[in-house]
Amino acid sequence: MSLLEVSGLTAGYGSHAAIHDVAARAERGEVTALVGHNGAGKTTLLNSIAGVLRNVRGSVVFDGVETLRGGSRRRPSGLAMVPQGMGVFPSLTVGENVTLGVTAGGKVSKEEAAERIKVAQGYLPLLAERWNERGGRLSGGQRQMVSIGRALVSGASCILLDEPSVGLSPKLVEDMMKVFATLRDAGLAIVLVEQNVKQALTIADRVVVMKAGRVIVDSSAEEFSSRESLWELF
Ligand code: ATP
Repeated sequence: MSLLEVSGLTAGYGSHAAIHDVAARAERGEVTALVGHNGAGKTTLLNSIAGVLRNVRGSVVFDGVETLRGGSRRRPSGLAMVPQGMGVFPSLTVGENVTLGVTAGGKVSKEEAAERIKVAQGYLPLLAERWNERGGRLSGGQRQMVSIGRALVSGASCILLDEPSVGLSPKLVEDMMKVFATLRDAGLAIVLVEQNVKQALTIADRVVVMKAGRVIVDSSAEEFSSRESLWELF
């Protein structure tokens, strides 16, 4: 069974459905790239999975548990989301910003918290280097790393990232993709929303294409790269 399995998902804003009957999945140890033009419904899908949106119908099964049942639409424990725009508090230090994530998945002991922080610093050395620096003094790329660090310390096994590369230099994007590949190799499920399909294909294992609120392609990255007809969607 997939770590995350979505089916028949319809969601939107007020009476307007922005995504329709969506099916998708994410596996441990894989990067799933979610691509599509502006307004295709990528953010709506992530928000529906993460329990951010109320107006959601269908099924979201995370780690074997249906999370939409009984009107409870909280973020499943073990799943973290890095929203677009990052959400790093400028007046808090890097350490404080990251530590906020520790209890996001539930209470943990001091020892467990310290261990998670150590592991996150291992993946993202910048966190230790700038631990006492205020968030407001960081560049866009550095803030993105802090947001990813916050998701990591929650103990998540699946991380949803909404266009993390927006506004970053090519070098920083490359560094960030390497971090995602390392996390994938460590067994995490990574769902990566990317406008830049070529960029996404550098690390993706699967590609899901959305158009006008629907999934129109769900294939292995290998197949996607080799079939020109799929590329022509962009
Ligand atoms: P982008 O790459 O621009 O973020 P996206 O693929 O993530 O696009 P969504 O942001 O999910 O697409 O938008 C899907 C549809 O829902 C669009 O028609 C958009 O206008 C609409 N929409 C998004 N957010 C809201 C909102 N808060 N209220 C009303 N409609 C919204």
